[in-house]
Amino acid sequence: MRIGLTGGIGSGKSTVAGFLREAGAAIVDTDVISRALTTPGGAAMPAIAQQFGVEFVTADGALDRDRMRALAFSDTAAKRRLEAILHPLITAEALTQAEAARAPLVVFDVPLLVESGRWRPRVARVLVIDCTVETQRARVLQRPGWTPERVEGALAAQATREARRAAADAVILNDGLPLAALRSEVMSLAARWGCETMTTP
Ligand code: ADP
Repeated sequence: MRIGLTGGIGSGKSTVAGFLREAGAAIVDTDVISRALTTPGGAAMPAIAQQFGVEFVTADGALDRDRMRALAFSDTAAKRRLEAILHPLITAEALTQAEAARAPLVVFDVPLLVESGRWRPRVARVLVIDCTVETQRARVLQRPGWTPERVEGALAAQATREARRAAADAVILNDGLPLAALRSEVMSLAARWGCETMTTP
C-alpha cells in the first residue's frame, strides 16, 4: 500500500516518518529528493540555470538556496516557474524509488501534499500529522537559524490546519502527546496498513 504523509512545519511529520521506517515501511522523502536535484550536478540544475540565470547557481554548481528563497518569496510567478521545473522531477524520482522499494507499506513524505494536489491520486491514504499553530511555532523556534519572522513566513505559505485535516484519511493529533504514545499510535496504524512486524517498544 502507498500512503502520503504530510503535516505543517513542526507538526512532527519527520518524527512520524522515523517511526514508520522502524515499523518496516519504506519512506520516500520528497524533501531529500528535491535537495538532491539541486545539488552540484543535480538533474534540475541545467533548467534552473537556463531559466533563472547563473546568478542563482553557486560556484560549485548547486542552487543558491538563500537567493532563490528570497526571489520565490517575493515573486509568485518565479516560484511557479521553479516548481514547474522541480515538481515533475521530484514525482518521477519518488515513483522510481517507490517501485524499487521492497516493503509492505510505501510512505511518500510530502510536506506540501495538500497544497499541491498532485499526490492524492497516487496514494491510497493520506496521513496528516496535526498540532496547534502555537505548538508548531514553539517547536520550529528551537531550530537553529529560525527567527519568529521566518516561522510566520513558513506558516503563511502552508495550508491551514483545517484544509489539511479535511484532506486526511487519518489524523494523528501530535500535541501534548508523549513520544512513546506517538510511537505506539504510529505502530498501530502501520500494522493496520500492512506492516506485519511490530517492533517491541
Ligand atoms: P516536522 O518534520 O513536522 O517539521 P519534526 O518531526 O522535526 O517536525 O518535529 C519537530 C520537533 O518537535 C522535533 O524536535 C521533534 O523531536 C519534536 N517533537 C515532535 N513530536 C513530539 C512529541 N510528541 N513529543 C516531544 N517532542 C516532539
